[in-house]
Amino acid sequence: MTEALLPSQPALTRIRVAVDAPQHSGLTGPLDYLSPAALAPGSLVRVPLGRREMLGIVWPGEPSADTDPALLRPILSTLDGLPPLSSAWCQLVEFAANYYQRSVGEVALSVLPPQLRELDGQKLKLRMKRATQLAAKHAPLPGDAPMPSVPTLSPAQAEVLAQLDALLAAPRERAAPPPVLLYGVTGSGKTEVYLRAAEHALKQGRQVLVLVPEINLTPQLEARFAERFVGHSLVSLHSGLTPAQRLRHWLSAHLGEADLVLGTRLAVFASMPRLGLIVVDEEHDPSYKQQDGARYSARDLAVYRAHLEKLPVILGSATPSLESWQRANEGRYKRLALPGRIGGGAMPRVRLFDMKMLPLTKGVTTALTAPLIQALRTRLERKEQSLIFLNRRGYAPVLHCGECNWKSDCPHCSAWRVFHKGDRTLRCHHCGFTERVPSACPTCGNQDIAPLGRGTERLEEQLAETFPEARVARIDADSTKHKGQLEAQLQAVHAGEVDILVGTQMITKGHDFRGITLVAAINPDGALFSSDFRAPERLFALLMQAGGRAGRDAEQAARSEMWVQTWHPEHSLYKALAKHDFEAFAQSQLAERESAGLPPYAHLALLRAEGRTAEAAKGFLDAASAYAQQLPEAQGVLIYPAIPMSVARVANVERMQMLVEADSRGALQRLLWHWMPELHALKREHKGLLRWAVDVDPLGI
Ligand code: ADP
Ligand code: ZN
Ligand code: ZN
Repeated sequence: MTEALLPSQPALTRIRVAVDAPQHSGLTGPLDYLSPAALAPGSLVRVPLGRREMLGIVWPGEPSADTDPALLRPILSTLDGLPPLSSAWCQLVEFAANYYQRSVGEVALSVLPPQLRELDGQKLKLRMKRATQLAAKHAPLPGDAPMPSVPTLSPAQAEVLAQLDALLAAPRERAAPPPVLLYGVTGSGKTEVYLRAAEHALKQGRQVLVLVPEINLTPQLEARFAERFVGHSLVSLHSGLTPAQRLRHWLSAHLGEADLVLGTRLAVFASMPRLGLIVVDEEHDPSYKQQDGARYSARDLAVYRAHLEKLPVILGSATPSLESWQRANEGRYKRLALPGRIGGGAMPRVRLFDMKMLPLTKGVTTALTAPLIQALRTRLERKEQSLIFLNRRGYAPVLHCGECNWKSDCPHCSAWRVFHKGDRTLRCHHCGFTERVPSACPTCGNQDIAPLGRGTERLEEQLAETFPEARVARIDADSTKHKGQLEAQLQAVHAGEVDILVGTQMITKGHDFRGITLVAAINPDGALFSSDFRAPERLFALLMQAGGRAGRDAEQAARSEMWVQTWHPEHSLYKALAKHDFEAFAQSQLAERESAGLPPYAHLALLRAEGRTAEAAKGFLDAASAYAQQLPEAQGVLIYPAIPMSVARVANVERMQMLVEADSRGALQRLLWHWMPELHALKREHKGLLRWAVDVDPLGI
């Protein structure tokens, strides 16, 4: 082995390399290696780790001087030819790793395109060449394509842009401009503002990063940007790309060839040497939070990145997150508002339909109420489209035997299996366990087992029965499993081939449906009484967004309605919704949060543990809590007792969680910093424990 030779090779330089060491190894920082030459920070290298060979990144900062050089191993090769990642990029990754309590190497390597790991220097050079050629091809020469039609700005847009331009034009050497919260309802012209701000940045020779919450929103935005910026190269970055595409697009951004990068949360880490503007569209969307590994918030990291690189960042939303709203209230973000819809389209009139007014009938039939049926019929007669929103897929959430009370529980989870009628299965939405629907009750043999409650599949069936002449379609995770299905279905809606569209929250986002004049939420009350304090915020955003699908066409706006069926029409959330009054809603929610000591007035982390038994998971969390309590950093930080998660058992694993609450971000970070590293050792003492993880700023409680 080469190690034996090392001491006699004094020419070797000590360098720090970030590698993706397994979390349980407790190696959280970069590791020291020896290199025949000094390498620029941000360079990619291949290094040995244990018996494996891995991709690593030469990390900025001084190697530790105290390790015996005889113990250090030399790097294996360098991926030269690739320009090093910038120090700002390394700083962003290091911040994310520290803040979300993961190792630097894990975060760094997990946000690079996976194919980079497999390539040697030679192959990489070929890929770089191809990325460059493609970028050139992607961008037609000006003159080749028709000039894009650029609308004249509305006065509100012009006002917003005047303020933005001042931020964009400010010299970057000084302080970072404040993040901008662009607040405007659906159709108020936010995207046009992004386009103009992007144009400004492009003119200055800068790159633009645009984040969207979901992959299926990228194509339409990509089309809008591509149409506007003929002559500029644009790439997308999201998990739906093939590994080769992802590498090509990433390289194109990294080499500075792509002018515009459009992507989902992972794109916040795109390496962009000329970055000049970041846009986060629908900034309130929960999809910006990564739900495993390093549980980062791409929205928050975008703000941090902008601060770090002294760039403007625009956070856009019709229903901003209460965190962002509060920061704007405090003056830390600059709030710019677009108060109305472009072209004067009104927001749909909201009708709160009081379910208590209905004559009492049994369970299932009530959701498709007679008045709603009448409203749908009117639309059919006028050849207008309707959209019905029900956030529960499948036919029915549970099957039930009236004789012995059997219910279709999942043998592996503390949850019901959902009845899917289309393929006659009982499916667990938590572990995936699927069986054919039994023809009789498995316990007592009763032939008459019945679905309880309703999902989108059943609603679709009932609508088809009620309106045999109507074209009913359904969009949810089940109807769009295969590639291209969602696009085809959306296309059908746009083409007017659908009269009534049923769907989950998938249909409430972003899509610019022109013909819809009725949006109905048939059963949204559940979120009002959820144990998750963010449920009302999310419900309000979803309903506003769903409502935003109606009346986008100014001509139809006057006839547009949003129908909310509720048992609690007096609830303040619905009252605010009826007036499209996000500000009133935000104010009342913030007041509640403040008095309850919840975010944004407090800072949370969740420590989660999974074990073969609930005792094992709880035992670990209790021990972790006991350890924390004796740390001086725990002063003033509240550590709650461990409790089972809302679905406690999934795939035969018992899950517990423990909430940690602090008044300030700093106090929370200080405690985690001293506490988390100890938990790797603690885990070894708890045999029944399978995994643990910490979620900083968790979204779901
Ligand atoms: P948002 O992003 O807030 O939903 P958009 O920017 O998509 O709003 O604008 C809504 C619609 O209005 C789009 O069809 C867009 O092309 C159009 N639009 C935006 N700004 C203008 C303008 N100044 N003049 C005319 N049409 C506009
Ligand atoms: Zn039975
Ligand atoms: Zn299950």
